[in-house]
Amino acid sequence: MAEPRVEESLKTWDEVKSTTCYMCACRCGILVHLKDGKVRHIEGNRAHPVNRGVLCAKGSAGIQQHYSPARLSQPLRRKGPRGSGEFEPISWEEALKTATEWLAKVRQEDPRKLAFFTGRDQSQSLTGWWAQQFGTPNFAAHGGFCSVNMAAAGLYSIGGSFWEFGEPDWEHTRYFLLFGVAEDHSSNPIKIGLGKLKARGAKIVSINPVRSGYSAIADEWLGIRPGTDGLLVGALIHELLRAGKVDLEYLARYSDAAWLVIQDPEGPDHGLFARDEAGQPLVQEDGRLVAAGATSGLPDLTRPARLGDGRRAVPVFRLLAERFLAEDYSPTVVAARCGIAAETIRRIAAEIAHAAFKEAIELDVPWVDHRGIEHARTRGRPVSFHAMRGISAHSNGFQTCRLLHVLQLLLGSIDVPGGFLYKPPYPKSPPPAVRPAGKPGEVQPGQPLPGPPLGFVTCPEDLLVDEAGNPQRIDKAFSWEAPLAAHGLMQQVIANAAQKDPYGIEILFLYMANMSWNSAVNVPDTITHLTARDPKTGDYLIPKIIYSDAYASEMVAYADLVLPDTTYLERWDCISLLDRPISDAQGAADAIRQPVVAPDRDVRPFQDVLLDLGARLGLPGMTREDGAPLYPGGYADYLVNHQRSPGIGPLAGFRGSDGTAEGKGEPNEDQLTRYIENGCFWRSELAPGQRYYRFANASYLDWAVARGFLPQAAPITLQLYVEPLQRFRLAALGHGDLQPPNHHRARLIRYFDPLPFWYRPLEDEREAADFPLHAVTQRPMAMYHSWGSQNVWLRQIMGWNRLYMSRQRAEALGLADGDWVEVESSHGRIVVRLALMEGVNPDTVWTWNAIGKRSGAWNLAPDAPEARKGFLLNHLIAELLPERPGGYRYAASDPITGQAAWYDLRVRIRKLSAREATGRSEPQFETLPLPPGVPERLKLRPASGRKSR
Ligand code: SF4
Repeated sequence: MAEPRVEESLKTWDEVKSTTCYMCACRCGILVHLKDGKVRHIEGNRAHPVNRGVLCAKGSAGIQQHYSPARLSQPLRRKGPRGSGEFEPISWEEALKTATEWLAKVRQEDPRKLAFFTGRDQSQSLTGWWAQQFGTPNFAAHGGFCSVNMAAAGLYSIGGSFWEFGEPDWEHTRYFLLFGVAEDHSSNPIKIGLGKLKARGAKIVSINPVRSGYSAIADEWLGIRPGTDGLLVGALIHELLRAGKVDLEYLARYSDAAWLVIQDPEGPDHGLFARDEAGQPLVQEDGRLVAAGATSGLPDLTRPARLGDGRRAVPVFRLLAERFLAEDYSPTVVAARCGIAAETIRRIAAEIAHAAFKEAIELDVPWVDHRGIEHARTRGRPVSFHAMRGISAHSNGFQTCRLLHVLQLLLGSIDVPGGFLYKPPYPKSPPPAVRPAGKPGEVQPGQPLPGPPLGFVTCPEDLLVDEAGNPQRIDKAFSWEAPLAAHGLMQQVIANAAQKDPYGIEILFLYMANMSWNSAVNVPDTITHLTARDPKTGDYLIPKIIYSDAYASEMVAYADLVLPDTTYLERWDCISLLDRPISDAQGAADAIRQPVVAPDRDVRPFQDVLLDLGARLGLPGMTREDGAPLYPGGYADYLVNHQRSPGIGPLAGFRGSDGTAEGKGEPNEDQLTRYIENGCFWRSELAPGQRYYRFANASYLDWAVARGFLPQAAPITLQLYVEPLQRFRLAALGHGDLQPPNHHRARLIRYFDPLPFWYRPLEDEREAADFPLHAVTQRPMAMYHSWGSQNVWLRQIMGWNRLYMSRQRAEALGLADGDWVEVESSHGRIVVRLALMEGVNPDTVWTWNAIGKRSGAWNLAPDAPEARKGFLLNHLIAELLPERPGGYRYAASDPITGQAAWYDLRVRIRKLSAREATGRSEPQFETLPLPPGVPERLKLRPASGRKSR
């Protein structure tokens, strides 16, 4: 009998389509292999600028995301009590009619009564604009819960930041410091970059309480105590200043180091920049006062000056040096608090200085600065950094992130070879010239807002408060409580709405934001808020909740109306330069998603639904004069034809009638076809002479203006000193017409320091005695969204989480690996299983975030390990700080930006007795029923002989 023939190169597809991954925020290019109309395989797109063909575990598991048994399949209307999970299917027409009726009423009465919040939404240039056209200031996405401190600190200091705004110069960096948890932002690009560093032998230092993720391949790991990164950076600055290892010429030319600061402690302008009559900041040159930028040589960085009115003024650099040369920042003083030896801090500072100054590089790349001066070569300082949520999610996060940017500035390593490089359209002038709209009088029935709901405030006059200083937004963003809340405070919305603080709302409209579970702190109370009723009327305190999600997440059970979304492989989408682009340091880029398969359920892309609702509501920009929809073709139609300003639309590539215009140009009907032909992305490469010193590079500035990235080709001055913060301090000291309520004054005076400084996280001192351990989380590399832990492939990598702890510390407490323990904070308690390890700071416990699921959610079996053994630390975190004298409770957030300070958490641990340990994590919540239309999940039996621990 003939041997059966084995086909070794079986063709498993009959079509391959390009699109963009959504399994994390990197937005890699992917090629989706299809057979008989089904997704069979996903691979990385080798031509794509983000990933160059690299595909991670999450990306390849996108196929299981697409075919997830947790997918919603039809619009639903609540029929049981809220939270019961009892729904009835309805038609799309009925769902949209209901939503339109609810929304139209609110818009005609008071648009603020709509709170529209989205999660890791990659269409924020649409969702934010929709909120603006509706007329509500109550819009934000997930940033306030994640890493807004990093973004805001960067945008107020250097007009850019890490991740989407900039990246290390992987080709030339010789010394790289990675601060805190950062795995889940810039996943594949960082892996590719780290590979380049390892290949070249560059040193990688990881500063992280936990030796996980990228720390595993670092040359050196510093297991820092959470919340003290800013102190460590301050000590590095101390050492560099002491050794004279700072780039004075770079500072004098490109930063505000020489700008004079008024010294008049009782005056209304104390601490502001001295300015000439034209408003230009003043510097001192050869003993004369000169407008910054008008000096013939380099301005003075250290000598005090006398102003025309006789008052004293000193350069920013002098103030900075005085602060950081003080003993407070010496390695000897900070070592114990950071958990890093003083000699290690001194050695790291010396290594940074060596790389920056002894190994300085010069590229044979000529460039011309904004003054027309030609530079034959490009000088670089090959030291770079990366940081994200690890240092951000603390109540001292904004100033910590600022400290890191100041360190970069002192080294002269911003936008130079080997340093941090901007990604176009950055740099922007710090801060970007967008102010939030929503002041009293700007919110009008039936009218759009005069500007976007999110932006960058520069003075008390920019705040969204009434005459008494009361917040105008439901999350209190841009109020005296969180003045620089550039991404809003998503984590406060539900509690504030239920408590009508500062006012009640009518509709909570959420999109892919799992706000009854892992996108909330204080989950048990959040659930109570979502279901609380007015005792007099019996009505829900949050009267209506509309939710759109592709999956049966924990939030679905709390919706009154569910609008089922598609998966990312079934819709058009846009990775826009108006939003969060995918550019790299050498070029501007954006991308699209195209539907590679048609939905097989009665679901619609949320972006189509939003435009449909906009047209039904008659919102400007979405409706023709005759009342017909302006974009009858949905989001794809909008992507091509919408113009935010003349010539500028969601997509920057292939514009103009012939498709050759970049950035600015008329809409092009063939634009989406051109994107698809190009692998679903567009990229415009910078010439070598445009790639560095872009804040002062004449050719780059002209290039950016031509594409609409900058309003003018003026140089951008990097800010060591964030003057807007001083304006808030002055108000708190009683200067100016706009005065904060008294209970905010002390906080503004203490924290709104225009020079960065380190302070102990709020409540840390009070809690340390009772709760000796810090508790933090990280995202595993194989998961990003909360949907990752219901993905059948990714669940096999991690089905539940444990609490990790230093072996030495555990043994001293009589704890052993595998023990069930009670973890208690000042707010609550959970029960979890312990795992011991070596690579963790001894005062820190940690776990993987968002693995724990609620029983019954995500169409997991009620007894799935994710539900019965997995857990969230979120239950232990309060959204408010303890009550102060006078009764006020501040948000448990950074006092400057409102970023949720969830990494401030402190806990204590107690071993459960054999009688107490049930083999289940706590708390457990009632099992959620399966929403109608979600099929029963295939039951998997564990392989024989395998036991789960
Ligand atoms: S890094 Fe993120 S975007 Fe890229 S393939 Fe992985 S999951 Fe997808």
